[in-house]
Amino acid sequence: MAYVYDDQNIFAKILRGEIPNKTVLETDHALAFEDIDPQAPTHVLVIPKGPYVNFDHFAGSASEAEIAGFVRAVGQVAETLGIAEGSGGNGYRLLSNSGADGVQEVPHLHVHLCAGRVLGRMISKA
Ligand code: AMP
Repeated sequence: MAYVYDDQNIFAKILRGEIPNKTVLETDHALAFEDIDPQAPTHVLVIPKGPYVNFDHFAGSASEAEIAGFVRAVGQVAETLGIAEGSGGNGYRLLSNSGADGVQEVPHLHVHLCAGRVLGRMISKA
């Protein structure tokens, strides 16, 4: 099935500056900002600037520069927030929801970066 990107989604509006966000980091290829409804003491979303619906869309269609830029931005955010184990932090969880079973609400690729407490099991078994 072809990917159809809806340019009226909330994150597209954030990228265009139409609605505000609490920016943590901005690079040529990515924007990181605080989640409006945090599920952990630290909850940041990292999105690519290009119009990609989800991770598999991005993986299959983005350029090498976009992919490298996005992945490096995620690492940079972890460093910036002081949660990267490599620089003495306590770690984090990285998660990306896709589609109906993934319960994706916003159809623009994003990864959730959660930290600041022990986060428990990865997902519930139910
Ligand atoms: P997902 O279910 O993976 O699509 O998650 C979407 C996330 O976007 C949720 O955690 C929301 O709290 C978050 N969110 C929705 N609107 C905004 C917004 N305007 N600014 C920041 N985060 C948002």
